[in-house]
Amino acid sequence: MKALRPADVGPAHAADDFLPRAMRFARRARSAAKAGSPDDAALRLYQCALEHIPSGVMITDARAADHPIAYVNRGFESLTGYAREEALGRNGRFLLGGLLGQSGLDPIRRALREATGGRAVIRVICKDGGVRWTRLAVAPVRDEAGILTHFVSIFEDIDERVRMQGELARRANHDSVTGLANGRLLLDRIAQAMAGANRASRKMAVLSMDLDRYKRINDRYGHARGDALLQVAAKRLAGAVRGVDTVARPGGDEFVVVLAEIGDSGDAQEMARRLQAALGEPTGVGESCVTLTATAGVAVYPGDGDSAEALLTHAGFAMDQAKRAGRGGCLRYHEAMSRPDALAKGLDLEQELRRAIAGGELVLHYQPQVSLRSHRVIGFEALVRWMHPTKGLIPPGDFIPLAEESGLIVQLGEWAMERACRQAAAWAGAGLEPGVMAVNVSAAQIRSGTLVATVRRILERTALPPGSLEIEVTESMLIENIEIAAAALDELRAIGVKIAMDDFGTGYSSLGYLRRLPVGRLKIDRSFIRNLTTDPGEASIALAVIAMAHSLNIEVLAEGAESEGQVRTLRAHGCDAVQGYFYSRPLPAEECERGLRGDRWQNAEDDARSDSEPAVLVVDDEPGVCNALRRALHGSGCRVLSASGAREGLELLALHEIAVVVSDQCMPEMSGTEFLGRVKDLHPDVVRIMLSGYTELDAVTGAINRGAVSKFFTKPWDDDDLSRTILGALRDWQQRQQRGQVLTSRL
Ligand code: C2E
Ligand code: MG
Ligand code: MG
Repeated sequence: MKALRPADVGPAHAADDFLPRAMRFARRARSAAKAGSPDDAALRLYQCALEHIPSGVMITDARAADHPIAYVNRGFESLTGYAREEALGRNGRFLLGGLLGQSGLDPIRRALREATGGRAVIRVICKDGGVRWTRLAVAPVRDEAGILTHFVSIFEDIDERVRMQGELARRANHDSVTGLANGRLLLDRIAQAMAGANRASRKMAVLSMDLDRYKRINDRYGHARGDALLQVAAKRLAGAVRGVDTVARPGGDEFVVVLAEIGDSGDAQEMARRLQAALGEPTGVGESCVTLTATAGVAVYPGDGDSAEALLTHAGFAMDQAKRAGRGGCLRYHEAMSRPDALAKGLDLEQELRRAIAGGELVLHYQPQVSLRSHRVIGFEALVRWMHPTKGLIPPGDFIPLAEESGLIVQLGEWAMERACRQAAAWAGAGLEPGVMAVNVSAAQIRSGTLVATVRRILERTALPPGSLEIEVTESMLIENIEIAAAALDELRAIGVKIAMDDFGTGYSSLGYLRRLPVGRLKIDRSFIRNLTTDPGEASIALAVIAMAHSLNIEVLAEGAESEGQVRTLRAHGCDAVQGYFYSRPLPAEECERGLRGDRWQNAEDDARSDSEPAVLVVDDEPGVCNALRRALHGSGCRVLSASGAREGLELLALHEIAVVVSDQCMPEMSGTEFLGRVKDLHPDVVRIMLSGYTELDAVTGAINRGAVSKFFTKPWDDDDLSRTILGALRDWQQRQQRGQVLTSRL
């Protein structure tokens, strides 16, 4: 017999090398055994060699249904942290936990299904919860008759290599001062966002932001402090954008934000406003305190450029133009900015706008405001649009800032007010009930000192009763000159004109102003409504604003309500009215008139469904789990709703009376523990049940200790047990409800 040498099985630094060698070795050991040799020694050697391989080896039994682990070597123990006894008998899936969905697993799944070999680079979850990169090779093991009996899997630890490669790539693509994406990565991200926008038929935007007077700060305090300030700015910007957006620092004092998915160009301007506010918090530099301001320019795709470079350049042009118009502003790109004479001529755009006001290119659209008590339209907000001869309808966010900076806003504002009042009077004259007409006014109109006289004149000319006009002001426009503003608003109030505080929550949100000014209505900014049903933090701000306003006898209107869940939540918590796409977008006058005649906006969300009995909500991205639970609860008479993710689940919770939520731990948008934590904050009386894999127990234990989870089941669960628990929780909830102990939700 040919002697077996340890060299036949090692060294096995790479799974690539090891597998064919091990197979060869196994064949030879088998033929040695067949030849009647003293095979004990050979097998001992075989076993000993397997034990000493520096990679993780796992052998699973392919004859048993769930492929239990039959053997693991020491390499496996040291790689994963699991002792042999903890691994034997289990299915190898436990190493993947929440990573079961990783795309790299496909070749392995195929190999197991088709009983062939397969390789992949995958991540495994170790006992301490850490994730390690491994190169996995799987091969089938067959007996003498060629029948599949086992699979052998070799895990090679490549974690350090992968992380090092990642670090090198990170350095090549990131700015060393702030850690943000650098210019190179930025162009890539813009191109990706453009491709995403094309696929989803949506828009994306590039926001160029330049810190005002940064050079002076740098010269005065030195480079080290200048760098520290850039880091602060970077952190604030990165903290204020969404997960899908990119903040980059291509160089100097310029930051660029790629907004991956936006609804319209107004969203980009709103984001610019938020980012400018985030930067504006005072910052310590040495002993002193500086306030950073930034000027911004926006280029929107499609429309403002068809390559990443063009969008970036055009956002820069817009930012330059905004800087010339005064610091701290934001402008959208306009082709006039690219003309070679743009610099010399200054504000070409301004001239175009001047012509537009005089030449009848501006139009007003009206957005209905709906009472949450009567479900009826109680007013309209007049919103200006520019009907550009070549560019089509331009939203106000793209030209109002320019109008403000150039002073044209006074003329524009007067035009809008007269037009809106005339329209309201015409509707009333036609026997319709349009309610109050709300008109936005700007800081310059208040500053001009002519606002009161203008309003009086317009009311007289249009014969609109003063009580049918509402002026919308924002806190930021009042702060400049609170005394003049308060006097003007008091005078308007005295003649019967109503006053609303617009965009509340984005400025100083000061109770003091609300008390000092004759405000009858407060409009909660739509940024607090957007995540009302999903974000407990924003929800509690909205709740606090409603309660605070009511305590001052001020009515509350929520802006930007887009979904039924948001509308229901607002109504449940006493909000008086809403204005938002859920009921209607801003519409041309004729369409509003048709709506008023046909009661188009009445009871829009009424009777959407009958909701008398409480339901059980199952949240899992795998439809199989929802179906299994539906089957388990079938015949119990209990209503089961399902959602494929956390956001959808939270929206359903806002819409329906739900007593019990059953959630999976491993979901793509957010983990089950985070989701149930939000449910606890938003709907504290809902019973929260978690389904989790064994490896996720640490996360689940934390959630139980925080009170986010009331009960949990490990997978695979026992159907009877789970349905008994769910039904028990449902009964319990109903009893508490009958005793009046159940809040619909905290918000
Ligand atoms: P605003 O006064 O806060 O007006 C509400 C804005 O929210 C409008 O944007 C409206 O279309 C939008 N909106 C309403 N419901 C929803 C919703 O459900 N979802 C979303 N995503 N948006 C919603 P618009 O018409 O683009 O106006 C933007 C801003 O331009 C206005 O904000 C106002 O500050 C200014 N503006 C408009 N017209 C005038 C005007 O005549 N004079 C002055 N000074 N400013 C005006
Ligand atoms: Mg408004
Ligand atoms: Mg508003």
